[in-house]
Amino acid sequence: MTKNNKPYRLRLPGPTAVPEQIRMALAEPVVAHRGPEFAEVMAETGQLIKPILGTANDVMAFTSSGTGVMEAAIANVLAPGDKALVLVNGQFGDRFVQIIEGLNLQADTLEAPWGEAVAVDEIAKALQDGDYRAVVAVHNESSTGAVADLEAIGSAVRDSDALLVVDSVSGAGGLELQQDDWGVDVLVTASQKALMCPPGLGLASVSEKAWNVIENGAGQARFYWDFRRARESAAKGQTAFTSPMPLIYGLRESLRMIHAEGWPNTLARHRRLSSALRAGVQALGLAVFTKSPMLSDTVCVFEMPDGIDGSAIVRHFYETYGTVIAGSRSKLRGKVIRIGTMGCITDEDIRLDLEQLEGALSELGWSVEGGVGQAALEAALQPAN
Ligand SMILES: *Cc1c(COP(=O)(O)O)cnc(C)c1O
Repeated sequence: MTKNNKPYRLRLPGPTAVPEQIRMALAEPVVAHRGPEFAEVMAETGQLIKPILGTANDVMAFTSSGTGVMEAAIANVLAPGDKALVLVNGQFGDRFVQIIEGLNLQADTLEAPWGEAVAVDEIAKALQDGDYRAVVAVHNESSTGAVADLEAIGSAVRDSDALLVVDSVSGAGGLELQQDDWGVDVLVTASQKALMCPPGLGLASVSEKAWNVIENGAGQARFYWDFRRARESAAKGQTAFTSPMPLIYGLRESLRMIHAEGWPNTLARHRRLSSALRAGVQALGLAVFTKSPMLSDTVCVFEMPDGIDGSAIVRHFYETYGTVIAGSRSKLRGKVIRIGTMGCITDEDIRLDLEQLEGALSELGWSVEGGVGQAALEAALQPAN
C-alpha cells in the first residue's frame, strides 16, 4: 500500500516489481557460501544467464548495485595513465565519466544530444587519433530511452587495441544482447531491472581480449572488484567474498522464468508492450522523447507538452493511483516522464499506464479525446496478422 492507502504499483525503469515466484525464492535458507549446495545454485545460474547475455563466458557476481560493477569494469581495465573514450548521450554515460575521473583516470567523450545516439562512424576516427585503452558505452540509456547499436560499435572497436566496455544494466533480460558476436569485451549488468530481482547483485562478463589486459594489469587499482580473483572463484561455483545468497536464488528463479517463457518470447513481449504503450501515448498527442532510431524496449520516455510539468504527472500517478513512474533527476527534470516496460509486465499493466496517464493529463488541463489512446494501444497489441 502507498502512504495514502492505494495499492502500490511499481512502474519505474528500475527497480522493477519483483514477481511472487522470485520473492518466494529469496526466502530460501542461507547456506555456506563455499559449500556444494550453493555451488550447484551458482552453476545453474551461471548456465542460465549465458544465452541472455549472448556469451560463453563465465559470469561473475558481486554484491553491489549497477554503479558498483560499472566502476569495477573501469578499475579492471584502466591503469593509471590510461585513457577511455566514453560515448555520452545521457545520464549514465555521464556517470561513466564521473567514475573514470573519480578513479583519477582520463576520459574523453564522444557526445550526442540526449535522446539521440552517438555517431558510430566517429569512433573509428577517434581511435586512430587517440590512444585509448577502452571505449565505454551504455547499451540502454535509461534516462532517454535510446539504445546503442552495440553491433556497429563493436565492429568499430574490434580490430583496435581498445576494449569495449558496456553497461547493460537496464538492457540485459529485456533487450537482445550478443556479447560474443558483437565484440563486447566487458559487459556489466545488475539484478533490479529487466532481471526482476531486488537490487544488490552486480554481474560482469569478460572476453578473452579483455582478460589479456586484466591478467597482465599494469598497476590497476582494485581489490574487492578484482576480476582475477572473481574469475577463480566463479570457476569453483563461488564468489570471492560472501555471496548475496538470496539474490542469487532470486536470479536463478528469474532466469528459470525467462527460459520457461522462452527467451525469444520474453524479448518479443518487451518489444510488443513498449511499442503499444508508445502508440497509445502518441495517440493522446504526446511525443516520444527519444530521437535515436533504436528505441528502447525496456523504458518509454515521453516529452511533456508545453505547460505540463512532468513532475506533476509523476505526483498525480502516485497520489491518485498509487502508481510509481519516473520523471527525470537530470537536466530533463519536468520535461519528460519515464515508464519502465521491463520485467514481469503484462498487457494489463500498460493498459493501466495509459488510462492513468489520460487521467493525469486531463487533471492537469490537457484535453484528451476519449478512447483514441486506448484504440491505438489495442491495435498495437494485436499480433501482426
Ligand atoms: C539503473 C542503471 C544503472 C545502475 O544504477 P544503480 O542505482 O547503481 O543500480 C546503471 N546504468 C543504467 C543504464 C541504469 O539504468
